[in-house]
This record gives sequence, C-alpha cells and structure tokens, in this order.
Amino acid sequence: MIRDPKRLSTSEAIRQQHGRDLTSYHAGRFPDVVLYPKDKEELREIIAYANRIGCPIVPFGLGTSVEGQVVPVQGGISLNFTHMNRILEIRADDFAVRVEPGVTRMQLNRELKKYGLYFPIDPGVDATLGGMAATNASGCSAVRYGSTREQILGMEAILADGSPIRTGSLAKKSSAGYNLTQLLAGSEGTLAVFAELTLRVYGLPETFLYAKAVFPDLQQACKAANRMLYRSIQPSKIELVDAYTIQAINSYKQTKYEEKPTLFLELSGWKSAVTAEVERVKEIIQEEGAGAWSHTFDESFGEQLWDARRHAALAIAALAPEKKLMTTDVCVPLSVLPEAVSFAREVMQAEDLQGAILGHIGDGNYHAVFPIDPSVPEEAAKAAKVNERIVRFALERGGTCSGEHGIGLGKKQYLTEEHGDAVPWMKKIKEAFDPNHILNPGKIF
Ligand SMILES: Cc1cc2nc3c(=O)[nH]c(=O)nc-3n(C[C@H](O)[C@H](O)[C@H](O)COP(=O)(O)OP(=O)(O)OC[C@H]3O[C@@H](n4cnc5c(N)ncnc54)[C@H](O)[C@@H]3O)c2cc1C
Repeated sequence: MIRDPKRLSTSEAIRQQHGRDLTSYHAGRFPDVVLYPKDKEELREIIAYANRIGCPIVPFGLGTSVEGQVVPVQGGISLNFTHMNRILEIRADDFAVRVEPGVTRMQLNRELKKYGLYFPIDPGVDATLGGMAATNASGCSAVRYGSTREQILGMEAILADGSPIRTGSLAKKSSAGYNLTQLLAGSEGTLAVFAELTLRVYGLPETFLYAKAVFPDLQQACKAANRMLYRSIQPSKIELVDAYTIQAINSYKQTKYEEKPTLFLELSGWKSAVTAEVERVKEIIQEEGAGAWSHTFDESFGEQLWDARRHAALAIAALAPEKKLMTTDVCVPLSVLPEAVSFAREVMQAEDLQGAILGHIGDGNYHAVFPIDPSVPEEAAKAAKVNERIVRFALERGGTCSGEHGIGLGKKQYLTEEHGDAVPWMKKIKEAFDPNHILNPGKIF
C-alpha cells in the first residue's frame, strides 16, 4: 500500500478537486481519500485491499469527462494516475506504443513526433489515455480513424479482486476468443482499472490542408459533409459549429470569424493528393450553397482554426461563467443528421433555452450545449426536457444517446430505452467482473 504521504491525500482542497469533473452540471461529492499509485504493484495492492473491505474506488484521469463519471457518489478512494504517466515502449515499426494510463494524448504526441508518428484521437482537451480508453473518447478525427476503442490493441487491466489480466496482443488483428479489450474500453472504470495500454499509432501525414466554409444554415452544412463522404473524400477532420458557437469563440479568442454556421475542415496526406482533393471539396461545398470559403496549407491558419474549435466548449462556458454546462451527445445515422440538428434548434427555441450546436458531423455526432444553473430547478428541468427530446429523436431513428461522452450519471435513464433486453446481460457482465460493486459504483446502471 501507499506509505509515501505525498501520494496520499485527505486534504479538503484535493478531495474537492477529485469530487467532480471540470465543466459539467453534475453535483459533486468528496472522496474520503485520494491515492496516487506509482506502479502496477501498488495499484494491485490498493484494489485488492479496497475489495476486501468493500471500499468504492473511482479511477480519475484529469476529470474532463462530462457525464459525472468521476464523481465518487458513494465516497471511498479516488485513484489519480499522475504518477503512472510513463511511455513504456515505442515500437515504431509495429505502429504500436505501450503506455501507462496517466500519459496524456499530447504528451504521447510530443514523443511520437520524433519518430514521424502520431496518435490521432483528439477529444479537444489534453485528456489521459486511461480516461479516453474508459469513455471511448473520440472527437474531431474519428471521421477518419474511429474512436479510442479502435486504437487499443491490448491492455493490462487490474480486476476488482486485484488480479491482473492481459487482453489483446501486438498483432493488428485477431480472431482469438472474446474481445475483452473492446469490452473494457468504454466501461467507465466500472469493470476493471487499466494499468497499461497498447495503442495503435500512425505515420504523420506529409501535409495538412485547412479549410473553412460558411453556410446560410446548419442543414446545408450537414448535407455538404455527407456528400463529401459519399464521393469517397476522407477528411481527417470535419466539424460543424453554429453561429452561437462562433460568437462565443470570437468573444473568447478575440477572433473575427463570420457569425454564421461554419464547417471547419482538415485534409491530410500527400500534397499532390490533397491539392486535387480540395478542388472536389470546394465544388461540393459551393453546390450546397456555401458563402465564404477559404483553404490553405498555412500552419498558423490551421493552428488558429483548431485552437478555436478545441476551445469551443470553454468559450461557451465563458459566456455564462456562473453556470455549468449540460451537453447532449447523440449520434445519428448520417442521413438523419440535417433533420436532427434542425430539430435540436427548434426544441431549444420552443423552450427558450440559449445554447450552441456543434459536432463531429462526419460521424453523425453532434452536441447541443446549454449553460445552466443546476440550483435553479426550472432551468435544470427545462434543459433536462430539451436533452430528453433530443435523445428520443435520435433513438427513434436508430441513433444512440451517447456518441462519445459515455453514460456516467447523466445518461443512465436512456440505457434501457436504447439497449432494451441487452441491459440485463450488461448487468451480468458487471456482476462477473465486480461482484462487490467497488469499481465506480452508481455509474452506467
Ligand atoms: C472542453 C471539453 C471538450 C471535450 N470534447 C470532447 C470530444 O470532442 N470528444 C470526446 O470524446 N470527449 C470530449 N470531452 C470529454 C472528455 O475529454 C473525455 O471523456 C476524456 O476521455 C476524459 O479523460 P480524462 O483523462 O479527463 O478522464 P476522467 O474524466 O478523469 O475519467 C473518465 C472516466 O475514465 C475512468 N478512468 C480514468 N482512468 C482510468 C483507468 N486507468 N482505468 C479505468 N478507468 C479509468 C474514470 O473512472 C471515468 O469513468 C470534452 C471535455 C471537455 C471538458
């Protein structure tokens, strides 16, 4: 167990910091203690001990998840991975890395750059890879690379009784047995605790091209994105931001973007291929009624564009600093997306709820984001109602209540509606992995 006092804290300030996430409206609760294991051995000992005495454990990366995943609703131990942040091995020729769970994606990319490699999944913030694996995070680049789950070749996970298991391998594919790696990815700390991850990485593209297109309305922007994919164009990023988001970004970042629905785009690959591809993109965008269009290889333009996109949620939060964010996260079949974003806007207007719409539209995943004061019951109820209508609209059309943020506390009520008779099987899996319910209790179900 941990004997170094620097890696164990019961101070109020530290417990408060581990009692809630960074931005969301979910109410917090202090853990009893925060522990900082330094390696697998310590991690195993802590988990085995907690299991013996029936003490809840909540793994904590950076606390950037948005559905209350890190709130220790039953108190107990918050497990912080700051000291388990070593990049263990870079196997450049295998396009694979082994990392501890506290490594952040930007930390990894700084190191990978030396090898001409990169890890493309980008949820905007500099989250830990353990947290990203546990929420199956995705973000801007999923349109080309998929989500975090698809990047995990294998892992070492510590089970609730403290015993370790290895899943997966270094091979790029496998048909050997049940896929426990993919089961544990996205399990939000409820089935096992990751001690090590083996991740897929990629060669850095020769060049990146950045583009921006302004549209008269959201639907046309969605249709343009859909047509691009239909024509086999594979952008590395294609992001929708509405006029409200652009206003927030302009005020937060002192930029001067036109305050209309806008697509932010990135193409990457060989310069000759990208140069040809962008002409086709421009043609489609203009056929779909875009106004202003610009594209460039200029890195500083790209940095400003993606910096603005990454800060969009924080910019929206800054418009009402006394409030917290409620963020919807539905993902719908691509053909439904134009109708889905119009519906979201209509519902928000009908309830007189100010908020933004933005999304990873190449995946059919969009967010309606409303700053709310959770202590004002009418405001919280109004936002919950809008959230519910948006989720129901998505579920009725074959979508999901969460494209990338997970269930946590916030989406629990939709799980049965979405998965129906599969939920009892999910509960049996939880029971088999964690019979004493010590791992992040109160989440998902
Ligand atoms: C401004 C902003 C923008 C965002 N944009 C996106 C986006 O575009 N796409 C997206 O997908 N997400 C987005 N998110 C959500 C968030 O960044 C992700 O959920 C992220 O993956 C969480 O990582 P973390 O390190 O902060 O983990 P935490 O929030 O600390 O933890 C998340 C979950 O992982 C579990 N966990 C942590 N470490 C381990 C471990 N070692 N073993 C087992 N379980 C573990 C925790 O118990 C918890 O359930 C955004 C968040 C913010 C604040």
